[in-house]
This record gives sequence, structure tokens and C-alpha cells, in this order.
Amino acid sequence: MKSAEIRQKFLQFFESQGHTIVPSSSLVPGNDPTLLFTNSGMVQFKDLFLGTETRSYKRATSSQRSVRAGGKHNDLENVGYTARHHTFFEMLGNFSFGDYFKREAIQYAWQLLTGVYGLPKEKLWVTVYQEDDEAYALWRDEIGVPVERIIRIGDNKGARYASDNFWQMGDTGPCGPCTEIFYDHGPDIWGGPPGSPEEDGDRYIEIWNLVFMQFERDAAGTLTPLPKPCVDTGMGLERIAAVLQHVHSNYEIDLFQNLIKAAARETGCTDLNENSLKVIADHIRACSFLIVDGVIPGSEGRGYVLRRIIRRALRHGYNLGQKKPFFYRLVKDLVIEMGEAYPELVANQSRVEQVLRQEEERFGETLENGMKILDVALAGLKPGQALDGDTLFTLYDTYGFPTDLTADICREREIDVDMAGFEVAMKRQRDQARAAGKFKQSAGLSYDGAKTVFVGYSELLGEGRVTALYVDG
Ligand code: ATP
Ligand code: MG
Ligand code: MG
Ligand code: MG
Repeated sequence: MKSAEIRQKFLQFFESQGHTIVPSSSLVPGNDPTLLFTNSGMVQFKDLFLGTETRSYKRATSSQRSVRAGGKHNDLENVGYTARHHTFFEMLGNFSFGDYFKREAIQYAWQLLTGVYGLPKEKLWVTVYQEDDEAYALWRDEIGVPVERIIRIGDNKGARYASDNFWQMGDTGPCGPCTEIFYDHGPDIWGGPPGSPEEDGDRYIEIWNLVFMQFERDAAGTLTPLPKPCVDTGMGLERIAAVLQHVHSNYEIDLFQNLIKAAARETGCTDLNENSLKVIADHIRACSFLIVDGVIPGSEGRGYVLRRIIRRALRHGYNLGQKKPFFYRLVKDLVIEMGEAYPELVANQSRVEQVLRQEEERFGETLENGMKILDVALAGLKPGQALDGDTLFTLYDTYGFPTDLTADICREREIDVDMAGFEVAMKRQRDQARAAGKFKQSAGLSYDGAKTVFVGYSELLGEGRVTALYVDG
């Protein structure tokens, strides 16, 4: 089953159950300045969950374009390392705004997976929130999942990929306990069931999360019950496509294979299994759709996240020996793959190409010089050692290497980065610039030292900066 058909069948199934099909909203959330990007299907419905908005329907379904590359949900560091993470992906979802709750949500999900999509029941595992006896009983008694395959999970804070059955969109907003469905890709792949010590592996892959929206979290962390309990679910299109196309990794599905081939063509790489090709194929989707939705590369906030993703893609191209602009040429291949589902991509094709090309030309010159400096520094380090803060800072400040880009290169060689040292170097420069500004001011010159200083500072502290290697959820 091709991705397009899987998407269609999902929407049709829920439409036949009384849900209104709602188009995907923009990646830039219109109703929430605290959220960096739309990271799930529920974002456009947030106010309906909170009860501050009502619409003509109480049930909805969508295929939502989502980006997880910053803020609370950040998978940038996972791309290229796991079989299941993208920066950009499509989230299929069904929603109940104070209408049905746990029972129907679970029944619908099971019916779709095992009926419409025909998945074998014995390959499906489910998790429930530790204290959610109701969901546990529904799975066991009404659906008939054997208790060996129902797992209770708590708030597993701090673990790298660990399950956490309490979902939240961001630090504030609607949230609640959830139940998740996993698919067992079989013993040839390393990994253990959710909640086990080996759950970091990619054998048991989470495909669908059913969230029982019951609370709103405020800035102080207090949970207030929502006026009416709601349902919010999310299933990654690429993950269910992998299952239905009998492949393990998302990167092996129809859509990605074509993008990977296009990336190989543009970089001259002949090995289609090359990891850098996957990263480039992932990043062209995120970058193109962010530009479609009005984000432009810049030095702060959303624009800086976009710039970081572009530069990361370019670095992977460089890795494959491509030193000339190439990334923008993949837009036309993306249009072939996704233009039908997203006409806005077709309409903006030439603008996207232009923005990307400009950014490529801009970074191209410094990328090569920065790589030379980094190679020299890395040659003197052994796995387990850390790249010093001054080099990190020079690369950032002079060569336009975002720190996560440098960290990504280092990680491939098992080298850490000294972020504390980077902060020190940053502060030193800031202090020097401030002193220079004062000196010039007192000398009667118009140089605005303080302003210059703070551009760098806010770049660093803005949402754009992501260095943590940990992911939530
Ligand atoms: P994981 O634990 O694998 O990181 P998650 O628990 O963070 O996933 P949710 O927030 O529950 O994911 O999102 C709902 C669904 O969206 C997931 O079950 C999965 O199918 C899909 N999904 C989440 N993150 C990604 C991603 N980065 N790339 C592709 N699909 C994703
Ligand atoms: Mg989840
Ligand atoms: Mg998860
Ligand atoms: Mg996650």
C-alpha cells in the first residue's frame, strides 16, 4: 500500500465514523506564540480542547504536517540514528471534542489497524499510563489483547528514548494520560518491548498514540481539569507505511526511497545505504515545508532552526563530496512525491528553491574552511574526549557552524563537545565587545557595541539553540 493510499484510508475510515476531515494547518502555529512549530495534529485544535472555541463538529480527522526540530519535542538529533524519527513527518489523527472518550478511541484504533489495514494482532503491543486501570481493562476485556502484551508505563523522565505515557504538547497547554500501540518488527532487529531495558532499540516501534486529554497545564505547572474530556490521537504516516510496506525503517518506504535516490543523484553518491542520504532526504522535507509556511533562514527563533537544518543537510552533502549547491535541486523531486497531497508546495516551488539556493551559496564558502579547521582539531582527539569550547566558538562565530552541527560531526567520531567552554568563550567575546563599545563611545564614536553584542547572545539563547541529546515522549 503506497503512502498516499494509507493516508486516504485513514481519513475515509474516520469520516465513515462521523468525523469531519480537516486540512493540515501551517507549521507555524497561528494560535500559539509559545510553540515553535506545529508538532502534532492537536495543535490546530488546542482551543477546542480548552473549551474556549467551538465548531460545527465534535469529531475531526486530519493528516497534519509536523516538525519536531526544537522546543519540547525535538528529534533533530535522532535523524540518521534511528529507523523511526524525522524532523518533518505527517501525523494522522482523530479527535473528539467532548464527544467520545477512551472506549471508542481504543475500538476505532484497533478496528482500523487490524481490520482496514489488516495487521496481524499478535504483532501489536500496547502500553497504558501506570494508573489508568480503565484503559488497561478496555484492552484486556473488550479488545482481548493478552496481558503479556499490555504494559503499564509511568512518567519515565530523563531516559533517552523511553516511553512516557503522559502526553503534552509543550510546557503549557492541554495534556493527559495516553495509551500507545507498538508494532513488533521481529527478532532480527535489536530492541525490547516498551518499558524494558532494551526499549531504546528499534524492534518494537511505537506507531500510534491515543491521548486522553483531561487537563490543562499552566505556566506554574498546575493541572486543571478540562471542561470536557477529549481524545487526541497521532499516528506517524511514515511509520505505519513502513509496517504496511513490510520494511523496517521509515527511510525504506516508497516516498523516502525516491528522495534518497534523488539525493544520491545530486551528490554523486553511489551507495544508497549511506546515512548522509537519509539525513538529506529528511531535511529537504522539513526545510521546504517550513519555507512554504513562511519561515525564512535567519539568526533567531524559527528562522535559526531552519538555518540549522539547512546547514546540517549541506554538511552531509559535503560529507559525500558535494561542495557545490545541490540541496535546492531536490525540491522538484519532493514536489513529485508530495505535491499532490500538498498543493501549496507546488505553488511555492520556485520560491523554496530560491531561498534554499541563496542559503547554500551563503554557507558554501565558510563550510569548507570551517571543515578544515574542525578536521585539524579532531585529528588530535580520541573517542571519548571533547572538542574544546574555543574551537566550537570560532566555528560558530566565524564560520557559521551552529553548535549542534559541530556536535553532529563530533558525534560520528564519538567525540563530545565542551558546551560549558563554548559559553565561556561566548561571554568573553561579549565582554570584550562591550568594553570596546564603551571605549569608542567615550571617544565620541557612534559604534553601537551593546547592540552588536546582543545579536550574538539572543542567537544563542533563542529557541533556535538545541544542544540536548535527549528526547521526550
Ligand atoms: P517516539 O517515542 O518514537 O519518539 P513519540 O512518543 O515522541 O514517539 P508522539 O508524541 O506520541 O511520539 O507522537 C504520536 C506519533 O507520531 C507517534 O506514535 C509516531 O507514530 C509519530 N511520530 C512521533 N515523532 C515522530 C518523528 N520524529 N518522526 C516520525 N514520526 C513520529
Ligand atoms: Mg508517543
Ligand atoms: Mg514515545
Ligand atoms: Mg519522541
